[in-house]
Amino acid sequence: MLEVILKGHDKYYGVSDVVRMFAGVPEELKDEGKVVAPDGPDITLVNELLDDGRSVTYSKEKSYACDGEVLEPGREIKRSLYIAMADITSMNMPWGCLTGIRPTLVACEEDRPEALEKKYFVRSDKARLAFETSREEQRLLSMVPEDSLCVYIGIPFCPSRCEYCSFVSSDISCHMDRLRSYEKALEHEISIVAPSLKRPLSAVYVGGGTPTVLEEKEFASLLDCMYSELNITSGCEVTVEAGRPDTITEEKLISMREHGITRICINPQTMRSDTLMKLGRKHTAEDTVRVYRKACEMGFDLINMDLIAGLPYENAADHIESAKKVIELAPANITVHTLYKKRRARISREQVMDVDMTRGSLDESVAESYRLLYEAGYHPYYMYRQKDTGHGLENTGFAKGETGNLYNVAMMSDARDVLSFGAGGMSKRCFAQEGGQHKHRVERCPTIKDALTYMERVEEMAEKKSAFFGLK
Ligand code: SF4
Repeated sequence: MLEVILKGHDKYYGVSDVVRMFAGVPEELKDEGKVVAPDGPDITLVNELLDDGRSVTYSKEKSYACDGEVLEPGREIKRSLYIAMADITSMNMPWGCLTGIRPTLVACEEDRPEALEKKYFVRSDKARLAFETSREEQRLLSMVPEDSLCVYIGIPFCPSRCEYCSFVSSDISCHMDRLRSYEKALEHEISIVAPSLKRPLSAVYVGGGTPTVLEEKEFASLLDCMYSELNITSGCEVTVEAGRPDTITEEKLISMREHGITRICINPQTMRSDTLMKLGRKHTAEDTVRVYRKACEMGFDLINMDLIAGLPYENAADHIESAKKVIELAPANITVHTLYKKRRARISREQVMDVDMTRGSLDESVAESYRLLYEAGYHPYYMYRQKDTGHGLENTGFAKGETGNLYNVAMMSDARDVLSFGAGGMSKRCFAQEGGQHKHRVERCPTIKDALTYMERVEEMAEKKSAFFGLK
C-alpha cells in the first residue's frame, strides 16, 4: 500500500490528485495526516512543504525536489510528489503533474510551451497542444463580452442509453408523455426568467441528452419559445446538440433553419456500425453520413461531429479509421473525446481500457487522429480534461478557420456567466478577482437533477435562478 504523509501543509486534494494518477483510488485519512492508496506500490513517502516555499518528497531511501522558480504551494507539493511517483513507478503522465481539468489556463500563464515541460513535466506534444489551444481559447473568449450572458437549455433525455454514458440522461423510449411535459416545464421556466434579463446574450446552447429526441411539434415549440422569450440577436451564437442521428428528421432540420440556426452537432462517435449497435446507439454510420449530407444541403455550415477514442469493442485502428472518415466529410468542427469510466456508466473500467485499447494505444490513436486533423487544416480551439480518467488524456475540440464554438470556450473558461435552464443544469456567475491562481471567483447555482422533480418544482427553480442573477 502507498502511504503519503503530509508535512507542513494540508493540501490533501492535491496529494490525492497525484496519487490517483499512479496508484488508483486514494483515501484521505486526515486524522492521521496522510493519503493512502491500497493499490499503489508498497512504500511510505513524506510530502513536505518547506519554510522557503519549496516542496520535497522523500522516502527512507531517496529524496525528490524541484529546481528553479518556486511556484505557489498547491503546485509545489504536486511537483515533488509527481517526480517521486514517476521515479518509483517508472511511469510518466502525458500531462505531467497538471491534474486540473483546464491545462490551457496554466498554459496561458506561459510565453512558450517549453515552460510547461520544465515546470510541470508535461510531455512536449501536450505542451504544444495546450499552448496553441490556450491562444485560440483566449481569442474566442475575447469575442464574448464580459457583461454578456451565455444560456444553456438542457433536455436530459435520449432515445436509448449508450452503454458508456455517464450523463444524467434518461432513456425516453417508454416515456414520450413525460418528455412532452418536460418540454412544457422548460418553456415555463424560460418564460418566468427571460423577461427580466437585460444583459446581451453571446451564446445559446441547447444540449442534453439529445434535444432532438423531442417530437417535431415540441421541438418547434421550444425553438419558438427560445426566440420569442430570449433576446437572441444576429450576433448571438446558437447551437443545437442534435447529437444522435436517429433523432434528426428533415422537419426538425427545417425548424432549425426557419429559426436561423446554422450551428448543430451530429455525433458519430465512431464510424463502425457494429460498435454503435453494441453500444445501444440504434443508428448506423450510414445514418450519420446521410443526416450530415442532408444538413449540409439545407445550409447548416457549422456542424460539429464528436468522436470517441477508447470505446469498448474497438481498438486504436478503429478510432483512426473513424477519424479519417469524419475528416473526409469535412465538418467545420470535430471534437475528439477520450472515453473514461464514470460512476453512472454501465460499462466497467476494464471494458474502457481493455486488452485492445491499453493506455499506450489509446494515447497513440488520439495522437494520430490529432495529426490527421492538423493535416486536414483543423486546429485545436478548446480543451478540457476530466478527473479520474485512468488514462490521463483530454478532450479537444478542433475547428477549421475561425469556426470555434464560443459557448464551449466561454463555459469552460469559468470567466463568463452562464444561465442554465432545465433539469441538472448549472448556472454560474464569474467575478473577476486580483491575484491568486484563478482570475475569477465562481459562484454556482445548481438545478435539481431529477427531471420529474424539476417539473414539479419548476417555478421554485426559476425563482432561485432569478435571485441568483439578481433579476427583478
Ligand atoms: S446520446 Fe449522449 S447523453 Fe444520450 S445516452 Fe448517449 S452518450 Fe449519453
